[in-house]
Amino acid sequence: MLVVMRMGASGEEIEDVVRQIESRGLKANPIPGTQRTAIGITGNLGVVEPGLFESLTGVLEVIQVSHPYKLVSREFKSDDTVVRVGDLGIGGTDLVVIAGPCSVESLEQTQRIARAVKAGGAQMLRGGAYKPRTSPYSFQGLGLEGLQILRQVSDETGLPVVTEALDIDVLDQVCEYADMIQIGARNMQNYTLLRRVGRSGKPVLLKRGMNATVTELLLAAEYIMDEGNSEIVLCERGIRTFADHTRNTLDVSAIPAVQKISHLPIIADPSHAAGNREKVPPLSRAAVAVGADGLMIEVHDHPEEALSDGSQALHPQQFSELMGEMRRLAATVDRRIPDPVNH
Ligand code: PEP
Ligand code: MN
Repeated sequence: MLVVMRMGASGEEIEDVVRQIESRGLKANPIPGTQRTAIGITGNLGVVEPGLFESLTGVLEVIQVSHPYKLVSREFKSDDTVVRVGDLGIGGTDLVVIAGPCSVESLEQTQRIARAVKAGGAQMLRGGAYKPRTSPYSFQGLGLEGLQILRQVSDETGLPVVTEALDIDVLDQVCEYADMIQIGARNMQNYTLLRRVGRSGKPVLLKRGMNATVTELLLAAEYIMDEGNSEIVLCERGIRTFADHTRNTLDVSAIPAVQKISHLPIIADPSHAAGNREKVPPLSRAAVAVGADGLMIEVHDHPEEALSDGSQALHPQQFSELMGEMRRLAATVDRRIPDPVNH
């Protein structure tokens, strides 16, 4: 349920409504908007009587939320959320491009690729230190050493860094080194991990599970928000379908579907959808055209020697060319990709 305050309702009136909600054992989630404040009510197991709050001073109306998700929905917050990662805002007019290797392999490899993607115009660095691999015999990532490399390279280049927290055992460590925490597709429904990352207060990149519906994705984000963390960027990375011409099927329609019902930003990862580098540019075009708030792209300067996902990694030159094209395309949908910063 959502209690919508009148425009210009005073701080005291808002606090009074919060107190009334809490006195009934419910949780009040005030959501300040540009026009007016709304207060989301969660923690109720059954129906809450709207009349309890309708007559309080400063209340405009009480809305029953029709979806299973609440805090993530536009009914709770109509304005788009802009997630802050350092100086970067994700979800505004500017599109964010996150790029880097699938896995951190060495300091030199990460430095070279980070410099190259920065020169191409990436605003954020990615790289896995703890890798979710299908086979236990595949490279599992450099672990703590990988995190230390990412921190060093992020500081050297000024690019904030996102990396995956594979489980709750490594979450605190990842939070110490990374600017944003990635929850991978395989962990989208790891509810303990979602709650823990919610409590960490760090910005989260939540990837859609490969067999998850949009509703399930939003409910996963709801777990994080329910812990008081609304710094969440969603990511469409392709889902499993009967199609075998591609690694996963990039569900571009999920992007406008999510944007209609949720205020959270959503970016696309064409690399894990494509599975090979030829398909990354066309899928990037599709994602930007459909309104994605950004892209996450894997790049490697020696993809044939990469320890994971080499076949889908763009060469740095290809990445730079793609960025030029994306800058032109973004302008046609009233978005902008900032020019590369070279210093
Ligand atoms: C990744 O980003 O490297 C990754 C493993 O992604 P996903 O969880 O989408 O498979
Ligand atoms: Mn990968």
